[in-house]
Amino acid sequence: MCGVFGVRAPGRDVARLSYFGLYALQHRGQESAGIAVSEDGRLTALRDLGLVPQVFDERSLSGLRGELAIGHTRYSTTGANAWENAQPLLHHGRSRTVALGHNGNLVNADDLRASIGKPLASTSDSEVIAALIADDERPLEDAAVAAISRLEGAATVVGLADGKLFAFRDAHGFRPLALGRLGSDPVVASESCALDLVGASFEREIRPGELVVADDEGLHSIQALEPAERGALCIFEFFYLARPDTRLSGVEVHGARVRMGERLAAEAPAEADLVLPIPDSGTPAAIGFARATGIPFSEGLIKNRYVGRTFIQPEQGMREQGIRMKFNPLAEVEGQRVVVVDDSIVRGSTTRQIVAMLFEAGAAEVHVRISSPPVVSPCFYGIDLASEDEMIAAQATVEDVRAAIGATSLAYLSLEGLQAATRRPADALCRACLTRDYPTRVPADSAKLRFESPV
Ligand code: SF4
Repeated sequence: MCGVFGVRAPGRDVARLSYFGLYALQHRGQESAGIAVSEDGRLTALRDLGLVPQVFDERSLSGLRGELAIGHTRYSTTGANAWENAQPLLHHGRSRTVALGHNGNLVNADDLRASIGKPLASTSDSEVIAALIADDERPLEDAAVAAISRLEGAATVVGLADGKLFAFRDAHGFRPLALGRLGSDPVVASESCALDLVGASFEREIRPGELVVADDEGLHSIQALEPAERGALCIFEFFYLARPDTRLSGVEVHGARVRMGERLAAEAPAEADLVLPIPDSGTPAAIGFARATGIPFSEGLIKNRYVGRTFIQPEQGMREQGIRMKFNPLAEVEGQRVVVVDDSIVRGSTTRQIVAMLFEAGAAEVHVRISSPPVVSPCFYGIDLASEDEMIAAQATVEDVRAAIGATSLAYLSLEGLQAATRRPADALCRACLTRDYPTRVPADSAKLRFESPV
């Protein structure tokens, strides 16, 4: 999970625009943030570990001048959470220097890395993409098309080189990328909510396999690859990752999540007094559940919004610690039969602790309802879900999971119900972590830290 942003706007403060764009994309990655600018073809990048406002201040932003900028917020899926892996990365190649930000994970990174035949500064798979473009002596557009055609897996990319802004999506379109306009200046962002925040109007989504290049002559679109027969926009974006005010394939995420809750209520109703969301990603589905059942909605769990999202913390120890700092139940749950709605269960540790916390607060019954099917298989396309043996539902029945989390009852939304709520056809979405049906070949070794000794 990462957020990417790019803008070409001569005469405007492109670094500041990127800063605010990244602010809107902070939920996609909280480990590191960075901005690269291009001024008359010269590239400068500033990146560091931490949240967007921790990495940048007024002084550092005012030192980043140019006509073009890209930005990145990172959550690591390949490569450690280390400074060298923060993005945008800069790669000095044989033909050009490339600044690049990447969202997604390649499944053929090992092969590509070996074919490059030189040491790389970072251990992420993203530098491989930058190296392919930087070492290619053809014009930027041709070099980028050649690079895209060698990538397998998920790659939503923004980059700067040769005084141009470029951006593309892999042929499956795993990760989103929206195109907007600030006046006539092009802006690209992982999610449409970032366009809203900088005052850009939404124009369209970048198509799977499409490359766009912005230069003095405007914005050019090149269909670098035919879109894959089977589209694969990540269904996790719909129920968990994307911000509710983002539109994906024309569908507002909040509305889709409310429909998930309504459908869940129809598939698995519960006799209860209150419906509580696990905030924030469970909130729209809880609204839908409450609406459909007539059971009053309650903000029975208060979230400390200044503590990072537990799912994003990479260490198990931090995750266990995090939950107590993050949620506190209200006294109104005492003696009540509550329905707790969340978007997903991966390891089960968060849900188990919340159920225990509600019983400790005096809840009479805790019915857990999940607005997605069981997560049973890993993601190779940029979401660090866990390995299969860490997933509570991978080899267990729903009753086993219910017993493990200690709930009075447990039900998941069906795959058909989830699909219907997105209003997208099944062949437009990747659902592999729910079905084990992957749209690409999967790598033999997908360990996150496998490149820690760079070749
Ligand atoms: S495997 Fe799951 S999380 Fe990964 S891209 Fe597919 S749907 Fe999304």
